Amino acid sequence: MKLGNRAIVAGAGIGGLAAAAALAPHFTEVLVIDRDTLPDGIAPRLGVGQGVHTHQLLKAGELALERLLPGITDDFGKAGAVSMTVGRDIRVYDFGGWMDDCDAGFAVTSLSRPAYEGVLRKRVAALANVKLQGETPIRRFAVADGRCTGVELEDGSTVTADLVVDSTGLTTPLLKQLADDGHAEFPTEEIRINVAYTTARFRRPEKYRSEETGVFILPSPPENIFGLLLPIEDGQWILSLGRRGGDVPPRDPAAFKDFAKGLVAQDVYERIKDAEVVGDLKTFRKPTATRHLLWDAKKWPDGLLVIGDAMSSVNPTYGQGMTVAACEADALETMLANRAVESVGLDGIAADYFRAAGEISGRAWSLSINSDYVYPQTEGERPANFAMSRAIAATLRKLADDDVEFRVLRYKLVHMIASADALREGQMGIKFFTALQGSMAS
Ligand SMILES: Cc1cc2nc3c(=O)[nH]c(=O)nc-3n(C[C@H](O)[C@H](O)[C@H](O)COP(=O)(O)OP(=O)(O)OC[C@H]3O[C@@H](n4cnc5c(N)ncnc54)[C@H](O)[C@@H]3O)c2cc1C
Repeated sequence: MKLGNRAIVAGAGIGGLAAAAALAPHFTEVLVIDRDTLPDGIAPRLGVGQGVHTHQLLKAGELALERLLPGITDDFGKAGAVSMTVGRDIRVYDFGGWMDDCDAGFAVTSLSRPAYEGVLRKRVAALANVKLQGETPIRRFAVADGRCTGVELEDGSTVTADLVVDSTGLTTPLLKQLADDGHAEFPTEEIRINVAYTTARFRRPEKYRSEETGVFILPSPPENIFGLLLPIEDGQWILSLGRRGGDVPPRDPAAFKDFAKGLVAQDVYERIKDAEVVGDLKTFRKPTATRHLLWDAKKWPDGLLVIGDAMSSVNPTYGQGMTVAACEADALETMLANRAVESVGLDGIAADYFRAAGEISGRAWSLSINSDYVYPQTEGERPANFAMSRAIAATLRKLADDDVEFRVLRYKLVHMIASADALREGQMGIKFFTALQGSMAS
């Protein structure tokens, strides 16, 4: 049984495309509307300025997309994705040292963001009841009698729908407009993280052609620069160099390479020093992490859901944004399938969805904010439990050095495929609690 005639998805980024895949089985038609020109193949888009920077898809995001669109991981492979075994092929420097090698038991793909989006767009466009419509800016959500009834386009026309999903990303004014129109009231949290990125692509030199290694250098304060290097399609590397609290890293290729020398370890610099730069270098400033607590909204129109960055956008350094959007879409599909079986229709779906999406995005939010607060460049009052959450993170990191079981668990937590409950259960729980007590006593 279909739950409705038409669903509209506002925005055709990663969140919007994943949402369309979630909605397709449950509506007669799904219309995805974006203000941008949507390319036929793989190409960067103006509407997603962040798209040219390093984008890691975490394992949970890959699994969610695979559930929504079976076979998409193979499609990523066909688009040239590099497959990397976590723990072995992605070298991580954090908490003042390198994580020891291990096989965490799972692999992830690595592609550029335009390639991820291009593959996803092709799969979604191939769904018989989904239509993608570019070059169509949305002005506001249409609301009548406390229910979202569709969208109003910039040309003044209205398109009606039984369900609308907002996936217009971080900078969209649509939620503010909804509140200004008196249709919604919700709290917003904003933390000044003051992060800036510059990104370059390189042709991988011959001696690194067969090396499928990523390098993440994320040092602790007082260091304030970091680097994220990944092998991607077309025999290239993508490297984002970031700085907290200061100017963006240089855009001039030679100065950019020189800047990489300033990282605490030389592994990135050694790889790129003689590599040919492909295309122009691009910068991005990310001053804040922002989230709208829609699960705590005092007023909200039913029939309007929000996914991805439009609801919650964290520091990209931890690579969570696409995964959060994909997992939210996956949760939405499960919810719609249950409603179809129980024949309960769409009433009250916003409250149910925001509870689930708040939990998914909340996990990413806590992890990234607690990491950001370690740096003096992050402005804002540290929460009361900050010292405890840092002690937990440091204890897990220390145990990961000594014990491969904890190392694997740490990778699974980062990739959002395990729950922190594992630290409270069984022999691992006892070991963890003992180490935590020890670290707090010393
Ligand atoms: C520098 C940087 C690096 C990042 N690295 C990673 C990473 O390693 N891993 C990761 O998972 N995430 C990363 N992210 C985050 C990731 O880019 C986002 O979380 C993700 O793109 C969110 O997808 P989305 O669909 O919610 O929004 P977007 O991808 O931003 O898509 C929004 C879409 O809405 C459209 N739109 C906006 N307004 C309107 C309107 N009025 N009418 C019609 N259409 C509209 C836009 O054109 C766009 O297509 C990074 C972000 C940044 C800034």
